[in-house]
Amino acid sequence: MTTISDLRRRYQSGGTTPAAVLESLADAIATRDARTGAYLSHDLDSALAEAATADISKPLGGIPVGIKDNINVLGQPCTCGSKFLSENYRSPYDATVIRKLREAGAIPFGRLNMDEFAMGSATENSAFKPVRNPHAPDRIPGGSSGGSAAAVADGTAVATLGSDTGGSIRQPASHCGVVGLKPSYGRVSRYGLVAFASSLDQIGPLTATVEDAARVLQAIAGHDPCDSTSLDAPVPDYLAGLEDGVRGMRLGVVRDMLENGIDPGVRSRILEAIDCLAKQGAEIIDVSLPNNAHAVATYYVIAPAEASSNLARFDGIRYGRRATNAKDIIDVYHQSREQGFGPEVKRRIILGTYVLSSGYYDAYYARAQKVRTLIRRDFDTAFAACDAILSPTSPVPARRLSFQANLNTHETNQRIEDPTAWLTNSGTDPLHEYLSDIFTLSANLAGIPGISVPAGFVSVERAPDAKLPVGLQILAPHLAEARMLRVARAAEPRD
Ligand code: GLN
Repeated sequence: MTTISDLRRRYQSGGTTPAAVLESLADAIATRDARTGAYLSHDLDSALAEAATADISKPLGGIPVGIKDNINVLGQPCTCGSKFLSENYRSPYDATVIRKLREAGAIPFGRLNMDEFAMGSATENSAFKPVRNPHAPDRIPGGSSGGSAAAVADGTAVATLGSDTGGSIRQPASHCGVVGLKPSYGRVSRYGLVAFASSLDQIGPLTATVEDAARVLQAIAGHDPCDSTSLDAPVPDYLAGLEDGVRGMRLGVVRDMLENGIDPGVRSRILEAIDCLAKQGAEIIDVSLPNNAHAVATYYVIAPAEASSNLARFDGIRYGRRATNAKDIIDVYHQSREQGFGPEVKRRIILGTYVLSSGYYDAYYARAQKVRTLIRRDFDTAFAACDAILSPTSPVPARRLSFQANLNTHETNQRIEDPTAWLTNSGTDPLHEYLSDIFTLSANLAGIPGISVPAGFVSVERAPDAKLPVGLQILAPHLAEARMLRVARAAEPRD
């Protein structure tokens, strides 16, 4: 994987140019991405036009950055992985993160595949095509930012942006063996990100290294008057203390998270990573997050509730592709939403509408908000005793694809039990899928930052040749991204 730091050196020494890098990425996409499926589209000509005037003295001067297809880039499509949002649509404006990337000299290049409206953990809910894990093409890349993670792992992108509502940056980063960072709520502007659950959504980087993640975060962080939830707090220098190490730091571990319901191979890698940080001088202490057990239930009430409200705008009139066979105005809404949304999005809208309906609001939504407060308080208590918390990012390595799409393009793909599974998306049990988000959701509910760093590989039964990446998650107190990056850098494999 090429890094931003490498490219900066090579630009400065005249070893390569932004245009040459874009051309080689476009070649890599043409040859490799037909199989991986990370990209939904890309526009080489407009990127080359930007490259011609790139200022390589800037922090991200001439660096191409791939963008998840739910973040608006002027003149580019923004499908959110949905058939509802036309591929012919072109954004009339740049999201704030894109404006900031451009100010830092970066070139937004390519639209990355994702679960429809960012709902999912496998990228199999994309309405267009599934994404394959570059480490094992019969497996999922994770999701919902599966395209953003797979492109970095596959070498078809140097760095990408994703969005994380309940783990959608960290979990695919973990499954694809790259770095993924979810900033504190309010650290990065959400203006121009198509909203899923507004109190949980954050945009963040996926990169090959921790240093690159720090560079991209530096560029996109900061207050934005266009997003009233963005924080007006100074942005520290994220590169300054990166190499300071963990000597003297207290790192918390939640023992029961490592004991129950976790793949034994994942557990071994995480214990090794913890041991490696201890050898570097960190003190490992036990902490408890008693309400984490309720994170899945809490999240899957609050996120669908907010989604059902945010997605009400897709009515086929102002937003979304309009059904042509409707009898009257009400039928336009019905038919357009019926035809436009995929099964998982409909499931979330139904769940969300139910928990907000009168009679159920107090039992579900109001109660979930109370548990959210308890989850946040658990972190306050834990961080009074430690500087950061270590856990697996996902309890399991990447599972197999349930899709049969493009089956014959990859000879090692296994038999799919139910060949019609992809039609209804019932190939995977939604509840089982939701439970695998157990380690990532609480950071969004508490608003704290989290990062996933590669922590080695596991081999799996029936696929002894496939080595599947494992990710170590590091959580830190609100706005303590600099400290979190320092721990991540110490945990990162060295070459
Ligand atoms: N997997 C979670 C969900 O399906 C998280 C998604 C996300 O972070 N966008 O809602």
